[in-house]
Amino acid sequence: MNKTTYHCHTTYSDGHNTIREMVEAAELLGFTEIGISDHLILHPTLDSIDWAMPLDKLDDYVKEIKKVATTSSIIVKLGLEVDFFPHNPRAEELNNILLKYDFDFLIGSIHFIDEFPLDYLKKDWELLTQNEINNIHLQYWKNIKLMVETNLFSFAGHLDLPKKLKFSPNINLEKEIDSALIAIKKAKIPIEINTAGWGKPCKEQYPSKNILQKCIKLDIPIIINDDAHTIKNLGRFYDKTEMLLKNL
Ligand SMILES: [Zn+2]
Ligand SMILES: [Zn+2]
Repeated sequence: MNKTTYHCHTTYSDGHNTIREMVEAAELLGFTEIGISDHLILHPTLDSIDWAMPLDKLDDYVKEIKKVATTSSIIVKLGLEVDFFPHNPRAEELNNILLKYDFDFLIGSIHFIDEFPLDYLKKDWELLTQNEINNIHLQYWKNIKLMVETNLFSFAGHLDLPKKLKFSPNINLEKEIDSALIAIKKAKIPIEINTAGWGKPCKEQYPSKNILQKCIKLDIPIIINDDAHTIKNLGRFYDKTEMLLKNL
């Protein structure tokens, strides 16, 4: 199996290594392709997100990835991880920015429900009632469906991210999950197994096994990504993923 990743971060957003360092490390580790996908977030109400790429850095980001690609022995793809918000008044601004460049791929991800950060701090979740926790999970899946229906994205990032900090819903989300997966099927895009989840409190890949089984039933293609934020995490938990796929 070719070792690839189409989800990793650099110092342009919240990663710890430069583009060149990530690509050179991937070469040494035997990757055949690496797609760089720093965070781009045009939040509807929050001015700037400190862990995302500042908009005025996007030009340099694109240029640098292309430059590194010309000297690399492996294929280097130009990507972004873009946050989706339903009814975002900045959607047109986002589209115009994305059209300016020839991205090879765009990851559609949801890290926020309105202003609530899903994967940031445990203490944010601790302030929620169980009913609010349920609603966050419910809204997440509704937003995934809307995100996929824009046809803007190459694949959906870390499906089931709200499980990360272990604040589980006590309602059944089956209907919303199934609708989101059917939208993914209709959009003819893959999902990723995001191996970073194994290093988080949820201690498992995104998405969970039962969602992966649903994807297989629907014939949705699955790609494996590490969501590496440092060279040390390139290809992390890929061995576990291969075992998981064998046992699905
Ligand atoms: Zn993400
Ligand atoms: Zn990411």
